[in-house]
Amino acid sequence: MTASLPSDLSCEEVVLLLWEYLDEELDDARRAQIRAHLAECEHCEGQATFEAAFLRSLRAVVDLAPVARGIEGLTGGPKRGAE
Ligand SMILES: [Zn+2]
Repeated sequence: MTASLPSDLSCEEVVLLLWEYLDEELDDARRAQIRAHLAECEHCEGQATFEAAFLRSLRAVVDLAPVARGIEGLTGGPKRGAE
């Protein structure tokens, strides 16, 4: 008996799940299904590559945000106190 994965995900479903897949929020079975689909589907593979790059740049921005606030505080941004 061969345990073949039911790879019955459509391209539409894969694209919808890509964010969670890239965020590693899916369970192993689901991720395996998506990985299998990406291996065989150029369209979704390209989409995954694009979204992974987008997610990386998004994370870079999020990582920088607290730093930017810290700099604002150091250089005398909006002062709080006497109110
Ligand atoms: Zn596809």
